[in-house]
Parts: sequence; C-alpha cells; structure tokens
Amino acid sequence: MTDPIAKLRTPTQRAKSDVANKLVSMFLHELSRKVRQTWPLKIESDEYAQFVRSTFGDYCPYCRCDLTIAETVVEHLDGLNRYRVGLHVPGNVLVACKKCNNEKRRDDSRKTLTLAESGWGSFLSHDGSRCEAGCKTCKYWATIWPEAADRTSRMRENVARILQFRGRFAEFRAVHSSVLDALPAWSVKLYTDCQQFAQGEIGILLNKIEKASGQEK
Ligand SMILES: [Zn+2]
Ligand SMILES: [Zn+2]
Repeated sequence: MTDPIAKLRTPTQRAKSDVANKLVSMFLHELSRKVRQTWPLKIESDEYAQFVRSTFGDYCPYCRCDLTIAETVVEHLDGLNRYRVGLHVPGNVLVACKKCNNEKRRDDSRKTLTLAESGWGSFLSHDGSRCEAGCKTCKYWATIWPEAADRTSRMRENVARILQFRGRFAEFRAVHSSVLDALPAWSVKLYTDCQQFAQGEIGILLNKIEKASGQEK
C-alpha cells in the first residue's frame, strides 16, 4: 500500500521538473520548426492528412477505436521529452484517442525501455506476458482486447502499421541523423541546467527575503 498523504511532500520537486520538462519540449518544438523548413511535406497539408488516413483510416493507431466518435488529441509517436526526443515533424505526428495518449505517457516518461526501443513500440508491447503483475499498461490493453491471443495479434498488427508509416520517412531520418543523434544528450543537459538554474535562483531570492525580513525586526 502506498501512503496517499505522502503526496503532500512532493509538490516543490514536481514544479521544478515540470519547468524543466516544459523547456525541453519548447526546445524540441523550436528545433522541429527549423527542421520542417527544409522538408517539403507539411503537417497541415492535405497531402499529409491523406497519407495518415491511408495508413490508419479514421482509427486510433494504438487501440483502433473510431476517432470520429472518440475524444482525440494530436499524438507524437516519439514523445517530445528528454528521453524520447521526438520532433513535431511529418512521420512523428498523428491523431490518437485521448485515452491511449494518456496511457502511453507511462512508457514515454521512462528513462530506459525494456520492451522495445521506442516509446510507442513499448506501449504496444504490454501484452500481459512480460511485465510484473499490476502493470497499468498491461491492464489497459486487457480492457481493450480481453482475449490474450487476440490482444497479441492486434498489437503486432498496429506495430507493423506504424512501422510501415515510419518507413515513408526514412529519408527524413537520414537527412537529419547527425542532429537527431545528438538530441538526447542536449535535451538531458537542458533539463539538468534548467533545474539547477531554478534551484539556484529561487535560493538566492529566498535568501534576500530572509535578510530583508531580518532587518525589519
Ligand atoms: Zn486509442
Ligand atoms: Zn505491462
């Protein structure tokens, strides 16, 4: 049993990592803007929409629910965080159901993945046979496809479909491979620097306040 009241001790830590995560996401978005300039296919174009539709139909790439009736969000196959270092570029941007987008976050925020190389691949590998009991993602997939053999084959199909989609953008990966390879290290540095900056500056301000209130007495 976890102690729910223990949450009271974590807000400051949470705020600092939220800021650092946001900065990494901003960096990846800015970089995406630059990278996109050299790429003829635009995310907002009919051509890209058509391409996404021809691969996935109007269905969630993960759970295959009908997106015309589900709550939908813009989804990044490789998440825009320091571990997955995805970009907002064609080939990484899709539309998914909000539920899967939420559930996938657990894999996306893991420093190291054991089930697959990518966050999306890992998300689609929780077939209930490889994780410890109580894995939330395995439980999620069991609610979507209750029957184990059906679940495994559906997940494999979805992985294959995403790989096929990704194959279309292999050229893109080659063009930017030097940048993409350096991204994890840069993102981790940005994250660490941001946290140190936040901690240092807040410390200085708190000291000032303490001194000022000491003089008032
Ligand atoms: Zn879904
Ligand atoms: Zn699992």
